[in-house]
Amino acid sequence: MFSMVEGFQVYGQQTIQAAKYIGQGFMVTLGHMNRLPMTVQYPYEKLIPSERFRGRIHFEFDKCIACEVCVRVCPINLPIVDWKFEKSMKKKQLTSYSIDFGVCIFCGNCVEYCPTNCLSMTEEYELSTYDRHELNHDQIALGRLPLSVVEDSTTKVILGLAELPKGTMDGHSDSKNVTNFLNHVHNQK
Ligand code: SF4
Ligand code: SF4
Repeated sequence: MFSMVEGFQVYGQQTIQAAKYIGQGFMVTLGHMNRLPMTVQYPYEKLIPSERFRGRIHFEFDKCIACEVCVRVCPINLPIVDWKFEKSMKKKQLTSYSIDFGVCIFCGNCVEYCPTNCLSMTEEYELSTYDRHELNHDQIALGRLPLSVVEDSTTKVILGLAELPKGTMDGHSDSKNVTNFLNHVHNQK
């Protein structure tokens, strides 16, 4: 008899505990009911990448001195630097330069160590192609200026999470935030 009462007590405690956990779950759900959607409807909407975003590498052919530092610091020796020795000038002359973005891990080492700053990381991240060989960018492809999300009139710009004030996760259906940010960018120019 005593063990039966004890069993009921334990059962009752477990039921109360389970109800408490379910209640906590519902509170979290209710807490999210007031929020605006956070989903970015890519490609119709795009986030503004943060300032230090590591996207496609931009290369300036004229600044390159063919020192090959970028190759030595690259974890996979990726950049291909072709050069010839120009006897009249007594220095190396760059003939071609390429980086295969199908292999690059966007670590930024080459950009960091290049002595002439001819490499830089852009905010471009849309590199997908149907043929992986097209990801091997030569100096012409690398020299193309990056497209800015802010200047793309075909898509709606969403304030990047990095740009939101700390602790703000208000969603993005309110276009006021974007307008304010674009005005801020415009004023800085
Ligand atoms: S480190 Fe810079 S200057 Fe040297 S080869 Fe590479 S890109 Fe050219
Ligand atoms: S970003 Fe990193 S992996 Fe890509 S080429 Fe530069 S050093 Fe190599």
